Amino acid sequence: MAARNCPECGGLVASTINVCPHCGFIFNDSTPSSPSTNTRNGQSPNPYTSLVWSIVALVLFWPAGVVSLVYYFKSDTSWEDGNIFYAEHYGKTSITWAKVPMWIMLGCFALIFIGLILAVAVEA
Ligand SMILES: [Zn+2]
Repeated sequence: MAARNCPECGGLVASTINVCPHCGFIFNDSTPSSPSTNTRNGQSPNPYTSLVWSIVALVLFWPAGVVSLVYYFKSDTSWEDGNIFYAEHYGKTSITWAKVPMWIMLGCFALIFIGLILAVAVEA
């Protein structure tokens, strides 16, 4: 098991617990992957989602935007329930789907660019 030293008393503290058993010092380097740090939920916004991404996706290519929004709300619901694992999972899925139209647009621009180069090459 990983361990760290308490900055207050120097004692060895397991990384899975946030309170030093020797002196009671509270570690504030809360790791998001740890399920024991759920206390701030409800007050703070969900850091794993991005509504901007979903809306941009909706404008560019609405089917991917809708999927992205569905995962956005799933992530927010999980976050409000204190389920950080699912909030992160759905949030990442939401942003992945939001990026789909960006890649489609990029692909279209690349094809048009290649087409233009070919057209110029044929003309010459
Ligand atoms: Zn200590």
